[in-house]
Amino acid sequence: MPSTFANINTRSAVEGSAVDVLGTISTRATPQSVQADPRQTLNAAGGWTFKIDDEARLRRFLVIGAEGGTYYASARETAFDNVDVLKRFAANDPIRLVDVIVDISVRGAAPKQGPVLFALAYAAAHGDRGYALAQLPKVARTGSALLTFAGYVEQFRGWGRGLRRAVGNWYLEKDADALAYQVVKYRSRNNWSQRDLLRLSHPIATNPALNATLKWVVNGSTDADTPRLIEGFLKTQEPGANFAVLVGEYGLSWEMLPDEALSVPRVWEELVGRGMPMTALMRQLPRLTRLGILPPMGGLTEDIVGQLTDGDRLRKARVHPMNVLVAQRTYTSGQSLRGSSEWTPNSRIVDALDSAFYSAYGNVEPAGKRTLIALDISGSMGYENIGGLPLTPRDASAAIALVTMATEPSVAVVGFSDTLIPLNISPRQRLDDVIRTVSNLPFGGTDCSLPMLYASREKLEVDTFIVLTDSETWAGRHGHPHQTLQDYRDRWGIDAKMIVVGMTATECSIADPADPGMLDIAGLDTAVPQLIANFSRGF
Ligand code: CA
Repeated sequence: MPSTFANINTRSAVEGSAVDVLGTISTRATPQSVQADPRQTLNAAGGWTFKIDDEARLRRFLVIGAEGGTYYASARETAFDNVDVLKRFAANDPIRLVDVIVDISVRGAAPKQGPVLFALAYAAAHGDRGYALAQLPKVARTGSALLTFAGYVEQFRGWGRGLRRAVGNWYLEKDADALAYQVVKYRSRNNWSQRDLLRLSHPIATNPALNATLKWVVNGSTDADTPRLIEGFLKTQEPGANFAVLVGEYGLSWEMLPDEALSVPRVWEELVGRGMPMTALMRQLPRLTRLGILPPMGGLTEDIVGQLTDGDRLRKARVHPMNVLVAQRTYTSGQSLRGSSEWTPNSRIVDALDSAFYSAYGNVEPAGKRTLIALDISGSMGYENIGGLPLTPRDASAAIALVTMATEPSVAVVGFSDTLIPLNISPRQRLDDVIRTVSNLPFGGTDCSLPMLYASREKLEVDTFIVLTDSETWAGRHGHPHQTLQDYRDRWGIDAKMIVVGMTATECSIADPADPGMLDIAGLDTAVPQLIANFSRGF
């Protein structure tokens, strides 16, 4: 494990522990600082928890990533730990590794594409290379993703023939207009350009329009077969260009326009009117508001509210709910994350983003079970960001909880650290209000047994406990979570289940993998609310 004991002691002090030696001795239940089961390992906080299996670990990494690290481990340490999982998977089951990557990518399960592209690049070097490379178009669906993949793959292997052919095919398998759109929209990224990739892979197209597209990327030449989009892009670079007219005439996206075009309201009216990709639209809401085209009434407000609340469109575009949440929080705050620009949020847009968050999860069939949701609000849940997003695990877990609260008829929600408090939050509140409520709760140490102990003490009839946590439990003296769950079952005669929603990409979980009534799932996966309901119902 990367963390040292010195580190653990410091962190535990931050989480507010006071060691009471006598309190650590119990004949009824094992303190969490003592191993209760030979399968448990020491977690980074100094408590004993179970290890999840490699596939669960892989899924956590692919949907959560290593960016930001955890409270106990740096991003670099987290990344190295996850590469170990890729390494074992690539050696033991290289086909399954690629299938899991494709599943996460194609479902749009993760808010960021980095981890799946990284993992595919790894598999293309150390796993079943041919099988991994054959899935490249499925996982790298945009020109941007292809450039990101190119950067990662070079960290693991050279540009051998198989890789060159796979990259070349990525271009050749597209229709000329679709390819033109990708290469004009994403011309370069980090240290890679489409031109670099074409020079390495030099694919040869037989279709004249495709051939003309490739030629334009490589040497800037055009001819009668060059797609119109490229012609339109070139016209935006001429002096005195009328950007709004060009957008309308050629279907250009905002990324294809020069900076000066982006402060012209008429240009945005044209872009929105033609239908921007949903994620881009959400990111541009502050700018549209600043430019005065989202007034309280009139302007483009109706149009955009309509687009944002179109559930089918959101799901077809695979918009990740956490990206909606980030857009909603940023927009509502009235200032950019760096504080460099300000706007007055339109409350109708804020409400539309709120409903878009729930819609992005799709229609979840309720389980109809009595459900207690427990949010870990301990210190470790509020320090680092999650999934490369400007959100802490604490923020994200509150948002995820709202989806189940909105779905299940019988549900209560509590927060716990080394004490437990009932939370008065509701999906009828705005997302940013709920997150602010949860963010402002006091930090403390971690005892993941408290939800079960609380339910037992208060005689609450609970069919399903949902615990959103990083599983770095250590402070409990009255039993490990799997023990207190069993006590609850025995005492009240309810065969209660526990679902652990893992909020960091680590290997630990409070769920006993041998207990069929416990499930561990990766917190940011878009499927989480449905997985919760299915498991809770018993499928
Ligand atoms: Ca903690």
